[in-house]
Amino acid sequence: GAGLGGGHDEREQTLNQLLVEMDGFESNEGVIIVAATNRPDVLDPAILRPGRFDRRIVVNRPDVRGREEILKVHSKRVPLAPDVDLEIIARGTPGFAGADLENLVNEAALLAARQDKDAVARVDFELAKDKVLMGSERRSAVMTDEEKWNTAIHEAGHAVVMITNDNHDPVHKVTIIPRGRALGVTMPLPRGDVFSRTKEQFEAQIQSALGGRIAEEIFFGKLTTGAANDLRQLTQIARAMVCEYGMSDKLGPLTYGSEEGSVFLGRDYTSRQNDYSESTAREIDQEVRQMIQTEYDRVKALLTEHRDQVEAIAKALMDRETLDAEELKAIFEGRELPPRERVIIPSYAERDKAKQDKRKAASIFGGPPKPAPST
Ligand code: ZN
Repeated sequence: GAGLGGGHDEREQTLNQLLVEMDGFESNEGVIIVAATNRPDVLDPAILRPGRFDRRIVVNRPDVRGREEILKVHSKRVPLAPDVDLEIIARGTPGFAGADLENLVNEAALLAARQDKDAVARVDFELAKDKVLMGSERRSAVMTDEEKWNTAIHEAGHAVVMITNDNHDPVHKVTIIPRGRALGVTMPLPRGDVFSRTKEQFEAQIQSALGGRIAEEIFFGKLTTGAANDLRQLTQIARAMVCEYGMSDKLGPLTYGSEEGSVFLGRDYTSRQNDYSESTAREIDQEVRQMIQTEYDRVKALLTEHRDQVEAIAKALMDRETLDAEELKAIFEGRELPPRERVIIPSYAERDKAKQDKRKAASIFGGPPKPAPST
């Protein structure tokens, strides 16, 4: 519920029913009720009173060992090739929740099945990871060469900022194959489990988000809508730095305002108020703008200096569509790109057609054409 005013809404009825049921248990009956929620913020205090749910256990995202155990559970009934090491996969998936890992195993198994493999190999897990991280590819989307080049420059701008700034999570992959609603993706991946972030890391995130737009500006001198999502993201980061984490020198170590978006967390909209004055609101706006402007100037200088590398990465993207961390590093250091074997996964339709062709060949020639004997 959006929490507009009180009343007997669905949520309240559920709560009351729950309380009535729970009061049916006497404390000496040895019944323990366990419940789980991903919205602890909307729980009614009545439910958390001692004697009802009196202990809260926070389940965080799993760490490396947790991820390995979760992967074991989900891959129990999946035949794994000998080159699959669940520990390595666990190390390469920081930030993945249990559901993400389950999804990863399923996607890898589907990919293997589409290639008629007997077991799921490491490369299937690699491809599945990209799918889980970045969304599935939208190969059917037709982009003009101009749009592609535009996207390539934009993503290269993100990538160069990530490569040059050590405070940023290392870049994992860059692609100009449309995924979901994005025309391209530059995907960072943390080095390991992350429990807290520093001010410098937030600044690096703002910088990398600005990188796409600024690269477009430098190369084309015009603005496109491609950066809308980046801009929203970096504005949110800057605002959180000022209002939630007290990272602004000007406004000091205070938090401003109750949690953002609480309207949708089930609290009462009408009774919500800001705990700061209008002049402070203006100061916050100014500070956020100032912070972003500072990063903007830095990134503009950086990308102007590294213009050649942005261009080189964009050209490689036009050629290969996707670049991994190794390839990006090679381009950035001016080395030759290693040749690449392409893994082409047939779509279901293509696979079925190949099977049909095989069957047709068998009925006409008495079997698929045999490979020529080697000499
Ligand atoms: Zn972008």
